[in-house]
Amino acid sequence: MVNHSPFFAEMPESRRAVFLDRDGVLNVDTGYVHRPEQVRWIEGCAEAIQLLNKLEYRVFVVTNQSGVARGYYDEETVRRLHRWMTAKLRSQKAEVSEFRYSPYHPNGVIPRYRLESPCRKPRPGMLLDLMERWPTMIEGSFMVGDQATDIIAAEAAGLAGYLFGGGNLEHFIEGILAAQTGAKHAQDYRSLSETVRMRYVLNGASAKSVRLLGEQQHQGFGVVDGVDGGPR
Ligand SMILES: [Mg+2]
Repeated sequence: MVNHSPFFAEMPESRRAVFLDRDGVLNVDTGYVHRPEQVRWIEGCAEAIQLLNKLEYRVFVVTNQSGVARGYYDEETVRRLHRWMTAKLRSQKAEVSEFRYSPYHPNGVIPRYRLESPCRKPRPGMLLDLMERWPTMIEGSFMVGDQATDIIAAEAAGLAGYLFGGGNLEHFIEGILAAQTGAKHAQDYRSLSETVRMRYVLNGASAKSVRLLGEQQHQGFGVVDGVDGGPR
């Protein structure tokens, strides 16, 4: 039975999500980036987000911005940059559902931002808030960051965390998806274009996942259970 109450209608559906760190993942981390002209996009960034959109993941950005606490720039400057980034990505058909930032730092010089915040990574506050605002399926959701603190925050929120060391972000994320593709995501894999499928195989994160995809191809993607069991 369909519930037509206004509250129910406004609740977004539960989906998988990918949480991306900003500096070092979307843009090159040149230190306290806060103006559009300082942004050097990571290769494959828009394409990665586009791919995740196509696979119906929600995409979020979670970023520590201690530059606010340090007095280098204010919150409105951060928000302005995020509006600009959102628009730039959207113009390339890459949709980020929400940017979250933490302006705090325990050694900040601006009193109201000088604190140990549960929203500053490695603490998981930003991720937990987002998952409350946007119902999220934990299974299959993950975070990509370039610092150990990103991975710690992901794990504290119950998510898998993947450390990005630079290069092409789309290829990196394809590798993660390939590694996760037991048959849980075979449906998604089937829906990808032939070009992307080939790249999955070529850029798969592990020999195991490449082999797995090869087997699935032989079997017409018919494998559903027990292919990729066990902890990784
Ligand atoms: Mg970073």
